[in-house]
Amino acid sequence: VKRVYAFGKDAQGNNVTEGDKDMKYILGGKGANLAEMAVIGLPVPPGFTITCQTCMEYANAGNTWPEGALDEINKYRQDLEERMGKRIGDADDPLLVSVRSGAPMSMPGMMDTVLNLGLNDESIKGLIKHTENPRFSWDSYRRFIQMFSNVVMGLDGDLFENAITTKKLVKGAKSDTDLTAEDLEELVAEFKQIFSDNVSAEDYPLLVVDGKVQFPQDPDTQLRLAIEAVFGSWNNPRATLYRKQNKIADDLGTAVNVQTMVFGNKGNTSATGVAFTRNAADGTNEFYGDYLVNAQGEDVVAGIRNTSPIAELKEVEGLQEAGRELEGIFGILENHYRDMMDIEFTIEQGKLWMLQTRVGKRTAAAALKIAIDMEKEGLITKEEAIQRVDPEQLDQLLHPQFDKNATYDVVARGLNASPGAAVGEAVFSAADAVEAKAEGRKTVLVRWETTPDDLAGMIAAEGILTSHGGKTSHAAVIARGMGAPCVCGVEALRIDAEKKEAAIAGTDIVIREGDMISIDGTTGILVLGAVDLVMPELTGDLDTILAWADEVRTLGIRANADNPADAQLSRDFGAEGIGLCRTEHMFLGDRKQIIQTFILNEDQEVREEAVAKLFEAQKGDFYGMFKAMDGLPVIVRLLDPPLHEFLESPRALDVEIAKLEATGGDAAVIAEKRALMEKIDSFAEQNPMLGLRGCRLGIVYPILPVMQVRAIATAMAELKKEGLDPKPEIMIPLVSTVNELAKLRAVAEQTIAEVEEAEGVKLEIPIGTMIELPRAAVTADEIGTKADFFSFGTNDLTQTTFGFSRDDVESEFVPQYLAEKILPYNPFATVDPGVAKLVKMGVELGHVGNPDITCGVCGEHGGDPDSVKIFHSIGLDYVSCSPYRVPLARLAAAQAAL
Ligand code: ADP
Ligand code: MG
Ligand code: MG
Repeated sequence: VKRVYAFGKDAQGNNVTEGDKDMKYILGGKGANLAEMAVIGLPVPPGFTITCQTCMEYANAGNTWPEGALDEINKYRQDLEERMGKRIGDADDPLLVSVRSGAPMSMPGMMDTVLNLGLNDESIKGLIKHTENPRFSWDSYRRFIQMFSNVVMGLDGDLFENAITTKKLVKGAKSDTDLTAEDLEELVAEFKQIFSDNVSAEDYPLLVVDGKVQFPQDPDTQLRLAIEAVFGSWNNPRATLYRKQNKIADDLGTAVNVQTMVFGNKGNTSATGVAFTRNAADGTNEFYGDYLVNAQGEDVVAGIRNTSPIAELKEVEGLQEAGRELEGIFGILENHYRDMMDIEFTIEQGKLWMLQTRVGKRTAAAALKIAIDMEKEGLITKEEAIQRVDPEQLDQLLHPQFDKNATYDVVARGLNASPGAAVGEAVFSAADAVEAKAEGRKTVLVRWETTPDDLAGMIAAEGILTSHGGKTSHAAVIARGMGAPCVCGVEALRIDAEKKEAAIAGTDIVIREGDMISIDGTTGILVLGAVDLVMPELTGDLDTILAWADEVRTLGIRANADNPADAQLSRDFGAEGIGLCRTEHMFLGDRKQIIQTFILNEDQEVREEAVAKLFEAQKGDFYGMFKAMDGLPVIVRLLDPPLHEFLESPRALDVEIAKLEATGGDAAVIAEKRALMEKIDSFAEQNPMLGLRGCRLGIVYPILPVMQVRAIATAMAELKKEGLDPKPEIMIPLVSTVNELAKLRAVAEQTIAEVEEAEGVKLEIPIGTMIELPRAAVTADEIGTKADFFSFGTNDLTQTTFGFSRDDVESEFVPQYLAEKILPYNPFATVDPGVAKLVKMGVELGHVGNPDITCGVCGEHGGDPDSVKIFHSIGLDYVSCSPYRVPLARLAAAQAAL
């Protein structure tokens, strides 16, 4: 196998590059693009790349070199020395190189780079002689020792920074640039001493000379250790975590680029900088980037000195020509790559060198503008423009955000669980949030973690902040579903819900009820006080791309919404109907009382009265929903959750009773509470999610589905009489056998017929079911005979297929499964192949039972771009997702169709 590839020119100026841009899985992104730039004739300092596969072989063999690899590297090193006419470590005119990591996927800042390699006590003399610049030479040497010690040996960078600070104090130097050549020479000696004192002879016997560790003088040793360190950086904890978060495979490895150094720190006609071929923030086609005169490498990003905009390059004496050449190269790169590129460059004494290019990261707004502009410029096609925008990124544009001009201090950080920003008074219970909302006050609900009991408060609050739980915790999932901003897992937050306050660990900050706080769920931060918010403007660009997407997609997009405002929002975002209207959300607030009365009373009359009240309330809800969605389908799901979710927590009652008893409370009240508690206890189930819920509720309490169907049908009849075109559909949840559906379908049909009779209007209402239990999926041919439509409830289907409780996925084993790769990803976020197989089977069998059946997906997966692609390929008719994710789903569906 070939393990090393050359790039750049030889001594005669011939291009000897062996790779190209399509080899990023072999050469890494940086290596492949250095090769490509060399091939198209751009000025690239010559070098060679060691492959990613070598890194993996080395790592898998317990950090030992595969046979022949070191010889091959040595051969390419000698070849590079010949091409440059200089030798590494030479005492007369030394070649210096950088050793740069570069993985197939960009992992910014995750792995390491060493500059100025090849300097030692001999070659420094050659560098001084050749450059006639002792200050520059000593500065290069001290940077090398510093980087080598930090990156390769893992020494604490502060050891060196402190030495520099001390030196500046002693010499009365204000900044680094005030240090003289002699000062720097002294620093080099001190740095070598720090090295000897801090590197263990046991770990590095190779570096022991005369009984103690010495900074390596042999260039071969320097090079080998640096390459090994870059290989090792692939598996450092930072890089491993980054890969996990960005779904990058662990077995790709990183390449190593050994490249001739060029120097941006050789005086005022030298510079170094970074640039984008267009504005990465807003997409404007302009000369965009920053540079620093007389600087090296990381100085630009490190922010130690103020950079200048590269547009100025073209005006600065000595840099003008390089500036013009750079601008020309922007055009060459864009034409060649047909995309916006990100560039690193260095100017050495007026001569421009290209050190890196890759497709540039950009904000969502810039992505849209660039895609559309490039289509107009004829650089890319419409289809490519659609592919250029990451659906996930659109989220940035669809929620309120902190005003860019606002200033604020971040007091704590957590996970960015649900995007958007929220400002409000801190409240510590759902009830307080509901109460505040009723009084017109805005709140942020602060909880340890949320439970279904908090739902009303979550709806009432502007945003949700929790100290526990990850991105698929209850708070996160519900918040995303509602489109509410959520920051979760803020570990520094020490909540005392009883006292209604929260302390921030490590500070003396205490947030009390009523204090204004701001959260940003896009970045996961908590801020004290109210930050100004800006509502997102849906720019014309977003509309344009989505219109293009609608032209190509075949998958329908609906929304999950259960109130008229959300329904309207969904419509505005382009939803073609409501795929899931959850009626239990209509039973909160005041209505919880009514449903409690129904559940807890034996008395038939009291019960019927409660149901009549619920009927009126629900009819009003449906009326508003169907009106907002006039002409479009609205699937209403009959009551689904276990009844106990509507009851008080028996534990809370227990506490209340204990308190009353301790304080000598009224005996009658205590007895009443106790009776209530016993009653509630009688509804307790070991596994409520597998218990009396879904269609089972309707079979045990037929009065409930009758009431709901009557409310749906009556609302429809009223709207029809007003001349509108309401299109409700009735969905029966949690069916496992066709007999359940047959029974409830008959109940629904009879109820609809009664309403038709009473209202004197003809009502066509399709009746279907959710497929969310494996048995339903595998007997979908039977169930299909009784269903006009299927909606795959992939949240519950995932839960019941795996037998994982979706409310507990964050707790014990699932995180470990993910860490150990027993599960490749969280199946509640992106649909699992096994679950997808059940969906596919359900779709196919469903068509056996009813050739005209409509099949969709509701649940979080409907708004996940990766899942949308899978659902497209399975042949579903539509996906339904939260209103805010409708635009994403439209785009993802188009990308799936291309
Ligand atoms: P990263 O992947 O973190 O960007 P790089 O390998 O690109 O790391 O190195 C960081 C910086 O070091 C580059 O942007 C460049 O300024 C400098 N650098 C790397 N190699 C060379 C070189 N051969 N000559 C001059 N500067 C270099
Ligand atoms: Mg770089
Ligand atoms: Mg369900």
